[in-house]
Amino acid sequence: MREDYLRGDADHLSPGERELEKALRPLSFDDFTGQSKIIENLKVFVLAAKKRGDQLDHVLLHGPPGLGKTTLSHIIANELESQIKATSGPVLDKPSDLAGLLTNLDAGDVLFIDEIHRLNPIVEEYLYSAMEDFKIDIMLDSGPNARTVQISLSPFTLVGATTRSGLLTSPLRARFGINARLEYYDAELLQSIVKRSASILNTPIHEEAAHEIARRSRGTPRIANTLLRRTRDFAEIKGEGIITKPIAEMALKALDVDQNGLDDMDNRILSTIIEKFKGGPVGISTIATACGEEAETIEEVYEPFLIKEGYIKRTSRGREATELAYRHLKLIPPGRAQTLFDE
Ligand code: ADP
Repeated sequence: MREDYLRGDADHLSPGERELEKALRPLSFDDFTGQSKIIENLKVFVLAAKKRGDQLDHVLLHGPPGLGKTTLSHIIANELESQIKATSGPVLDKPSDLAGLLTNLDAGDVLFIDEIHRLNPIVEEYLYSAMEDFKIDIMLDSGPNARTVQISLSPFTLVGATTRSGLLTSPLRARFGINARLEYYDAELLQSIVKRSASILNTPIHEEAAHEIARRSRGTPRIANTLLRRTRDFAEIKGEGIITKPIAEMALKALDVDQNGLDDMDNRILSTIIEKFKGGPVGISTIATACGEEAETIEEVYEPFLIKEGYIKRTSRGREATELAYRHLKLIPPGRAQTLFDE
């Protein structure tokens, strides 16, 4: 069974789950758990901008899905006491879509563009002058009557979010004054996020159960919250409404989340590299075809965590499974047949 809802990105969430996700979003810097260095810096930049009565510099947030980029963009707007308008790269199809948004911003407003690496290059060109000079050239008419008029914009702050900062063009990247990379969360931080979410959901949870969910959430708050919601269902149906450790373990098992927090697709990627390609090196598109998943999703959603935890290595010739991956799947690493039994 594919557990799409355990993915770190939001594409698979139902409307109800999106609403719930909103309810679980922290609203201020002080309510946001973890990423302490980024938060400390942003607090200073926001305060300084407010003190000067200036707009905040443009902010680029990057990192894997589900780590809090959208949440932070809303917090930045709240802390600036400004309005936020949110859109995403693929939605801004034509320069006029962008112009429509920009001309509706008030001074100091935040424009949030998610997946900014997927902007249409023509739209991106228009964004350059908007970001730099708060001006935009609009083309009127076409053919022999074509002319451009320049429109002045209210000074605004662009917050761009991307899971693939490597795909950003350098002129765009250069226009962000503040650049922050969000990191995966450790189990302790995720445990406090799980407890906070459980209290918003009015669900009693034991400390060890919160720890168990946190430890198996792939370092990602969105996954921690999703596992919490599913575990709550098990607590209500199979238990007495309280999330205890046995209930959490039962739910995680039913959801195919293994002892190390790897899900079905993580394990499929590892076993594909090992069993079909002798441990690699093998290219990402070959792995993707063999696993029946898109290469982009593997690169954005699954691979960063598997690399961080040391299950795969990225080399110039492709991806390789590490010894840890073999052990995880209870397989013998190549060249280790004799020593395996010494350990
Ligand atoms: P991204 O935009 O990076 O994909 P989101 O900002 O949409 O991630 O966060 C996904 C979910 O995780 C939200 O429901 C949010 O409540 C929760 N979340 C993310 N970061 C934190 C955090 N630091 N503290 C508490 N909850 C968080």
